[in-house]
Order: sequence, then structure tokens, then C-alpha cells
Amino acid sequence: MTRGYVVWPERGVQLAGVRETLEAVTFGIPSLAVSQRVLRPYVLHGFDLLIDLHCHTAERSDDSTAPAIELARNARAAGLDGIALTDHDTFWPDDEIKRLSDDAGILVLAGVEINTDGGHALVFGLSEYVFGMHRPAFLRQQVDRAHGAMLLAHPYRRALPWGVDPGSASYREALQRAIKGEFLRVVDGAEVINGRASDVQNGFARELLEAVGTPTLANSDTHTVDGIGRVATEFERHIDDLEGLVEELRAGRFRPWTADGTAAV
Ligand SMILES: [Zn+2]
Ligand SMILES: [Zn+2]
Repeated sequence: MTRGYVVWPERGVQLAGVRETLEAVTFGIPSLAVSQRVLRPYVLHGFDLLIDLHCHTAERSDDSTAPAIELARNARAAGLDGIALTDHDTFWPDDEIKRLSDDAGILVLAGVEINTDGGHALVFGLSEYVFGMHRPAFLRQQVDRAHGAMLLAHPYRRALPWGVDPGSASYREALQRAIKGEFLRVVDGAEVINGRASDVQNGFARELLEAVGTPTLANSDTHTVDGIGRVATEFERHIDDLEGLVEELRAGRFRPWTADGTAAV
């Protein structure tokens, strides 16, 4: 259920409530499917700020074919409010990020995806790699010292063996092992939906994160220009910059979003 606060310009009135209800009120047809893009310009408050926190660029990730500026422009065209560039173990300079943001007309934030012994961490608020960051506890220390935020990307990876059937004993065993993992207990959130994962892999992440009680997000993890816009993390409050993002992540005011609505299931 999405709470929104809507101004319907022609009528100049404000309506507060659940988006599903608003669709019915504004269009008069309860069953009419209205895309969130149609309503987004009118939503002023509430869970409606969409940022994809996991994107790889051709400039800084060898395995990406997506120039940062095209990712940012496509994100805007898809109706997102922002993207974070999280290339592998490398940092974007502030001036380049600002230029991208200005050129594309959308919020662009700098993060990093760090490869650790416990999995891949999406980190916000650090500006350089320090030896030892491959250890999750040490990385958490550095993140806290910088007053940053830290998330676990694709939690199924390294936890769920390839090809394992969700109904099988091996699946249950993998899940039980993953539940005991320490990394999930030192992050501010984890991806319950990764845009490049299969349904089985994301299903495993969902069971795992529910069992541990980790706050959940959805990100594309895109490595291509067309991989953006179908998956994002939805925030409750407005975010203007990296400090704002860190604050909202640390406070847990976010949730997964998908364009087709499956995140809410
Ligand atoms: Zn990764
Ligand atoms: Zn990634």
C-alpha cells in the first residue's frame, strides 16, 4: 500500500490517502490501471521518491557497457528521481558526479560496491579504499567513522548454490546457513530484489531477509543502459544529496519498488 499526498492541478484540491484510492478518485474508474509515472508529478509527500542505488558505469566498471550520462538520462525518462553509481571498489569524484547530475537533470549520487569476505557491500559516505575493507566488521567501522551507510547487494550470491530447487533439502540447508551469517547483522539494509537475479534467487533473498529482519531494498544492479527503470528503492522523505541519503538509509525509511508492482507482494 502506498501512501501519497496528491495535488490534482485542474481542480486545485489536495487529496491525501492511499494511491490505489487516489487512482479511483481521480479517474473515477477503480479498475483502471494507471502507471505510477502518470501520478508521480503530482505526489508531493509520502513514499514516492525512487532511487536506484546500484548501477555500474562503463567509465569505472569493466563489466558495464553503460555510460553514466546515459544511465542518468534513462533513469529520468523512466520516472526515477535519482540513481547512485556503485562501481566496483572505485570512487567517483564529487565534481564529476555534480556535472552528471546537472547535465541529466536528475539526482546522481556516488557510492561504491566493495567486495568483502561476506559478500558485496554497497557503501555510501566513503571516499577512498582503505586496506582491510574486505572484512565486513572493519568496513562497518570505517563506514560508521565516516557517518556513512552500508547495504548488502544480492544476498543469495555465495549463499544459494546454482540450480538448487526451492523445495529441496539443499535449499533449506542453504537458507539456514545464510540466516546465521554475520554480514546481514551489520548492514543498514539488503537487496530483496536485484534486477539481474532470477525469481528463485530473489525468492531466497526474501526468505532470508524476513528471517533475519533486515530492512529491504530493490536495485537494478544494471550494467547496461536499458537495464534501468524497472526496479528501485522507494524513500519516505525527500533526498537532495548524499548526506540525506545516508540519513534515510540509517533510519530505515525505505522499501523495495518495482514498476510492475511485484515488490509489494
Ligand atoms: Zn555485486
Ligand atoms: Zn553490482
